[in-house]
Amino acid sequence: MRVIVYQASDTSALSKNFTRKDFKCPCGCTRQMVDSELVEKLQAIRDKLGKAIKVTSGYRCITHNASKTVGGSPNSKHRYGMAADWRMVNRSINPVALGIIAAQYFKAVGIYWYDGCAIVHTDTRDAKATWLCDAPRHYLNNNLYNNRHHFYDIAISKYLLRNYAAKIQFTAGLARTHGDCRTPDGNVFSGNEWTANILFQFKF
Ligand SMILES: [Zn+2]
Ligand SMILES: [Zn+2]
Repeated sequence: MRVIVYQASDTSALSKNFTRKDFKCPCGCTRQMVDSELVEKLQAIRDKLGKAIKVTSGYRCITHNASKTVGGSPNSKHRYGMAADWRMVNRSINPVALGIIAAQYFKAVGIYWYDGCAIVHTDTRDAKATWLCDAPRHYLNNNLYNNRHHFYDIAISKYLLRNYAAKIQFTAGLARTHGDCRTPDGNVFSGNEWTANILFQFKF
């Protein structure tokens, strides 16, 4: 990965439609990193859509990322210039649809809800990571088993009909947060979760 480090006063273009200003740290600091792969992929999406994209958050320095307004995780890809939060300038395309389009280019795609609006987060990590929020910090896709290192399941089954393998099964599960459990975008979470499932099965 190539990372560019430059001064905030530098306003030169990074691609056909994106300038360094688009990715600037909101705190006004004079340092910035932008992964060229991030810009290339955003430009490809912009070309495909034929409409202007607004980057609402690009690079974040350590101080700004840790500030109360952002509350970003220390591992946030924004800190390394690998991530951008964005939407259409005129909001003409639903951010969930944008996320689906973005997934053709980026392995890591998240839909966030911020300040009453949905936005797309994409980053250039080399691992699959997707998440969907319908409210700030509320994740609809269940993080239960993906991000917890310790989980336990126990099941009891009773076969009702031998010839047709009809059975009823009860499963109880516990997923524990243990040490470093993080949401896909790197925020630490805590709390254990219990699950219970009843299954009816009829095979023939
Ligand atoms: Zn800054
Ligand atoms: Zn983001």
